[in-house]
Amino acid sequence: MEVTLLEATEDPEDLVCKAARNDYSAEFVGGQSLEATMEDVDGDTLEEKKETLIGHLLKHGHYGPFEHPQITFAVEGVSRSCMAQITRHRHVSFDVQSMRYVSFDDVDPADVREGEMVVVPPSATDPDWVGRNQKTDAVDEETVGERAEIFRDTIENAVQSYQDLLDLGMPPEDARFVLPIGTEVNMVMSMNARMLMHVADMRAAADAQWEIRELTEDLLDIAAEWCPLTFDYYESEMKNRKNRLAP
Ligand SMILES: Cc1cc2nc3c(=O)[nH]c(=O)nc-3n(C[C@H](O)[C@H](O)[C@H](O)COP(=O)(O)OP(=O)(O)OC[C@H]3O[C@@H](n4cnc5c(N)ncnc54)[C@H](O)[C@@H]3O)c2cc1C
Repeated sequence: MEVTLLEATEDPEDLVCKAARNDYSAEFVGGQSLEATMEDVDGDTLEEKKETLIGHLLKHGHYGPFEHPQITFAVEGVSRSCMAQITRHRHVSFDVQSMRYVSFDDVDPADVREGEMVVVPPSATDPDWVGRNQKTDAVDEETVGERAEIFRDTIENAVQSYQDLLDLGMPPEDARFVLPIGTEVNMVMSMNARMLMHVADMRAAADAQWEIRELTEDLLDIAAEWCPLTFDYYESEMKNRKNRLAP
């Protein structure tokens, strides 16, 4: 999996502050400098004032201003299962690589065994990995070896069958039905800062699956650079709170 930043609102936290100050100012924030807009906020420097205001908004659940800054990520190589999970978030906009128009006919099925084209979950190869709803605790090397063999044989055969069907003239949109749910997909996704916190609430949590958690942690790493005050507060004060539904 690889997650990269495609585009993001410049000076996102200035925008959050302007939007929030608009709510409580007699003055019109349009055309005003940020210094003037923030004059009444506690803090010696503009940075301190921004930190005060952003912390205050998040602490009091005033999340609307965080809907103004937008960010777009490019995500490479998550499973279709992970894609199905993340696309449940209705306030995120997606473009998802098509399996109708892109046919994976140049992949060597033998390479699929080694992690090409299909995501191999850690529980297929790591004896110490314990996932949710697993019927046993950690298993021995022999058992995990058997798991790995079954998993790798199955995905290799599936990709081989897919390519055989393409060779027999079947359209990619139908041949894809034989591919596993772990088949990799690339996505572009856009959301606002509020939604990013909501996605993190649900998908960085311990009860989310390892793959979407990894994806979300990568999103949060980028967000920490993009909106440092906001996501620093989120990480330190909000991430593990109870009652996480829809910040
Ligand atoms: C650990 C885990 C397990 C899950 N298991 C399953 C499962 O087995 N089966 C399954 O189907 N889904 C499952 N989900 C998906 C989950 O039920 C949600 O559909 C998904 O996480 C989207 O989040 P959301 O409901 O907060 O909506 P989002 O689309 O992210 O919307 C954000 C918020 O906007 C509000 N909102 C949006 N649309 C509406 C609406 N129509 N009406 C009212 N309020 C709205 C809600 O407050 C919502 O929380 C699981 C999620 C997690 C994290």
